[in-house]
Amino acid sequence: MDRRPTLLVLGGTTEAVQLAQRLAPQVGPHLDLITSFAGRTARPTAPAGTVRVGGFGGVDGLAAYLRATPVDLVVDALHPFAAVMPFHAAEACARAGVDLLKLQRPPWTPVAGDRWIEVADAGAAAEAVRHAAGRRVLLTIGRQELGPFRSITGPAFLVRSIEATDLAGAWTAVELLGRGPFPLEDERKLLRTEEIDLVVTKNSGGAATAAKLTAARERATPVVVVQRPATPSVPLVETVDEALAWIGERVQLPG
Ligand code: NAP
Repeated sequence: MDRRPTLLVLGGTTEAVQLAQRLAPQVGPHLDLITSFAGRTARPTAPAGTVRVGGFGGVDGLAAYLRATPVDLVVDALHPFAAVMPFHAAEACARAGVDLLKLQRPPWTPVAGDRWIEVADAGAAAEAVRHAAGRRVLLTIGRQELGPFRSITGPAFLVRSIEATDLAGAWTAVELLGRGPFPLEDERKLLRTEEIDLVVTKNSGGAATAAKLTAARERATPVVVVQRPATPSVPLVETVDEALAWIGERVQLPG
């Protein structure tokens, strides 16, 4: 290859940022790095390389982008709950003949003392809330998934999200802005002072937002846990180190 290899990272996660951080010394002299964001948050950042924002226009658009750039390697570091884009990436990479790796942190698993109610999706989570005894619900499911909860009257919702959210609906809902990591002591205090008796979360995995599960366990508070969507069958690693090793096997990176 008489040009620098180009790596496209499909971002939106801490792991995508960490990958760019770790590759920073190579970016420029030895590697072109492009991190792509969907554009859901206002100011996405990446510590190295180029940032592009916005959809590619489906599988056709992504395959055309991979060929035109051209991209040599793709790492899908999408959020575990991004349900569509992983399949687009798998299909487009197959068409364009580009190697693809999925980097995804492992899910949380229940431990002794947990009172989890595991459900398939946000709609099922809302049904679980309707049938649960909880009167004060901490809802940490992301602002795109609030729809099925808005018609639930009875419990009071404390809705935690990174950015301001429209809370219109029949429900009683109060916003709590916050971006992880959330320390355990803060989560304990939140559940105690707000008298939370039901927590709703996606099974995002990772350390940054796991403390609420510990705090809930300590209070024997039930947690409605939304399971992850299906993923395409592509090579998968769980850590940034493993992703770096995979990249290193495919492109010459000194140091
Ligand atoms: P999605 O349903 O899987 O994707 C919907 C569409 O958004 C895709 O078809 C694609 O549009 C575009 N898209 C998604 N990720 C993209 C990326 N990294 N770069 C360029 N275009 C992208 O995804 P989503 O659930 O809406 O999530 C969107 C973004 O937010 C992702 O980057 C994800 O990692 C992040 N995120 C999601 C969640 C969650 O719970 N879903 C939580 C935290 C962060 P085109 O078809 O036009 O290419």
